[in-house]
Amino acid sequence: MTGYDTIVIGAGIAGVSCARMLADAGQRVLVLEARDRVGGRMHTDRSAGFPVDLGASWIHGIEGSALFELVRTLGIPTREFTVGSFQAGGRPMEHFAGDGSPMDDAASAQWTADVEHVDRLLLDEIARSSPGDTYLDVTERALDRSGLAPERIDEVREYFRHRVEEQCGAWIGDLDAHGLDEDAIDGDEVIFPRGYDELPHRIAAGLDIRLEHPVTMISRSPGAVAATTDRGVFRAARAVVTVPLGVLKAGDVRFEPALPAEVSEPIARLGMGVFNKVYLEFPERFWGERSYVLRALGEAGADWHSWYDVSAISGRPMLLTFAAGPFGIRMQAQSDEAVVASALRALRQLYGPAVGDPVAHRVTRWGDDPFSRGSYSHVAVGASHRDHDALAGPVDGVLHFAGEATWGAEPATVGGAYLSGHRAAERILGRSPDLAAFARAILTREAGIQGS
Ligand SMILES: Cc1cc2nc3c(=O)[nH]c(=O)nc-3n(C[C@H](O)[C@H](O)[C@H](O)COP(=O)(O)OP(=O)(O)OC[C@H]3O[C@@H](n4cnc5c(N)ncnc54)[C@H](O)[C@@H]3O)c2cc1C
Repeated sequence: MTGYDTIVIGAGIAGVSCARMLADAGQRVLVLEARDRVGGRMHTDRSAGFPVDLGASWIHGIEGSALFELVRTLGIPTREFTVGSFQAGGRPMEHFAGDGSPMDDAASAQWTADVEHVDRLLLDEIARSSPGDTYLDVTERALDRSGLAPERIDEVREYFRHRVEEQCGAWIGDLDAHGLDEDAIDGDEVIFPRGYDELPHRIAAGLDIRLEHPVTMISRSPGAVAATTDRGVFRAARAVVTVPLGVLKAGDVRFEPALPAEVSEPIARLGMGVFNKVYLEFPERFWGERSYVLRALGEAGADWHSWYDVSAISGRPMLLTFAAGPFGIRMQAQSDEAVVASALRALRQLYGPAVGDPVAHRVTRWGDDPFSRGSYSHVAVGASHRDHDALAGPVDGVLHFAGEATWGAEPATVGGAYLSGHRAAERILGRSPDLAAFARAILTREAGIQGS
């Protein structure tokens, strides 16, 4: 079949950004994508007449964000929605105590102060930790030093467990002590009232993308690669592999010859977490008008603990909640009806019979998805952030890797995936594609299409 300069495998944000930068530089680029759509873990369901983001929703911190610059240049509207990163306070929240009763302002402020106090001790414990220490180890040491009463310690412990589940999709005892080091939020967080997958779709427009082309094998020889699909073998001078870490860990793509230890060991060491979303649309609003998030502590929030008000996006009374880590994996085995019933039981502990039966719901199962096999990567015990970057290769000068799991400064995010695509393009071209020019070129192309 035709020879290309570069084959990009996977049409998520990393893949389409890299492919577009290479194509803008004059390369012949082919993108092979397993699914019947572009966007990967950025996927917006618009079937109900309003956007429901089943994968990524947020830019976690817009200050200094290259991704936000791109979004702004493309004129994609955003809406401020801070506390997407599991903060304890910072924006209006409704907190509920372990017995399901609402906390008053003083109790909420005390709770937030407790978390911040232990968080400061935790930073100190992380700095003093030894290789092999887990995030649970350092959390327990910080709690021991906290001086808080036992029942308050239990609630703060639970909060940190949930934070790791949401941020990493992992159990707190499986995460390395340094697993949240990069987790800084600079500036506001924003979401996308038109749906986040507008971004990869606009970048991808006009690229040669073959959908429903799962790659099963990538072979390499000096100066050449071949990607095997059940619709043929595609050849190029090099490849950029952007399939998720979960797919690499499962061995769904065979490499011929096998990957060297510099890349295969990080793949084995890093973890792929599970983080699922449940959206519930209600006949009527039963929660406060001002709150971004409802959060239940202790018993009341053992599984379903945080509820995000996304009514401003849907235009209907709608809450989003998450099931992550071990709970997220267990949840995937249940029917939608069982999941919704269980979430409703938790909500009714907080609001009683005011919680009506939902008129619609969406439940994701990213861990069962064969082209994702999880939600995002994390630093499992024994791994380090360096493993993320080592995973990028290149291998023998012809095999590059990109995607969120390859970007150590900001893994598990759209922003990290975007920059990893840029890095792969930079290594291939031998110069750094200008991100502002990249964004402007998308607009120019769109104007050309509209004008023609
Ligand atoms: C539920 C959920 C919520 C999230 N929330 C946020 C958030 O709010 N903010 C944030 O920044 N990040 C969030 N993330 C993470 C974010 O979605 C990802 O980090 C980012 O989209 C990854 O982009 P990528 O290009 O690396 O991978 P992907 O988007 O997964 O792209 C990889 C592509 O490879 C394809 N592929 C897989 N196997 C093959 C194969 N064998 N052959 C060919 N193609 C293949 C896949 O179909 C996919 O299209 C969330 C993720 C999930 C699952």
